[in-house]
Amino acid sequence: MTIYSFGSINADHFYRLPQLPQPGETIACSDYSTGLGGKGANQSVAAARAGARVVHIGAVGSDGVWMRDRMTEFGVDCTHVVILDAPSGHAIINVDADGENSIVVFAGVNRALTMPQVEAALAQAKTGDVLLLQNETNLTVDAARFAQERGLNVIYSAAPFDAGTVREILPFVSLLLVNEGEARDLRFALGLTDAQVPLPDMVTTRGAQGALWQSSDGAHFSVPALKVAVQDTTGAGDTFAGYLAAGLAEGMVPQDAMQLATAAAALKVTRAGTADAIPARAEVDAFLK
Ligand code: ADP
Repeated sequence: MTIYSFGSINADHFYRLPQLPQPGETIACSDYSTGLGGKGANQSVAAARAGARVVHIGAVGSDGVWMRDRMTEFGVDCTHVVILDAPSGHAIINVDADGENSIVVFAGVNRALTMPQVEAALAQAKTGDVLLLQNETNLTVDAARFAQERGLNVIYSAAPFDAGTVREILPFVSLLLVNEGEARDLRFALGLTDAQVPLPDMVTTRGAQGALWQSSDGAHFSVPALKVAVQDTTGAGDTFAGYLAAGLAEGMVPQDAMQLATAAAALKVTRAGTADAIPARAEVDAFLK
């Protein structure tokens, strides 16, 4: 099975500050670092690190060729990542002394994706392949509809949450991924329209509390998080999503895929950084033994 990952690619800029700036305030940062990020890129790298065949569909600007190269180094097929003549997406991540953060995201060319690009990428796709996507690009609903019509399983991470998009995309989704905040937003968004909206299979990640799988037929089970020394939780959800998609794509039952994703996400939170900090499959398998 191939995982087609339709999603954002961002340069993450991390600034370490004594405290987060107030309006009108200028603060010198004590440390600066940059790396590959963006929910789409993180999820692609996670699925590739898990051992899946991953084809990313996305865009970078000419200032972002290094990000496409980094994804390729991690084993992601970037044939369908186009280079556009406009700025790449980026995120400014301010982190204070307590690890609290505030983030500004500039979407850049992540919102300049086109359906011909999706159609070209999925031309070779087979029934049962996966389209993995989140909410940091344009055309999420169109891409999900197209993939579902072609017989792909659509795995949608509803982040960042958008009520209008989630209502439109749900009919095309086979597995919905949310964190606890997004689960609340989802209940609110659907409650306002029609409480009877049928939900697909759904996973709610709950940080240090673990994760819950709820099947559309009502069956459910939980997997506890693994106890680790937490360094940085950025990208935990994306690591979980990529590993879960990879586990399911290789034919694991949901319980086993959830265990794999839980272990991968736990290892990620022990390390600082986003895409570069996602563990390889061998490390995750060793951690699970
Ligand atoms: P998001 O990063 O999208 O907010 P969560 O915070 O729910 O998502 O984290 C996703 C998954 O990462 C969790 O289900 C869990 O498996 C793992 N995880 C997150 N925080 C921790 C933690 N402190 N300790 C161990 N595992 C964690």
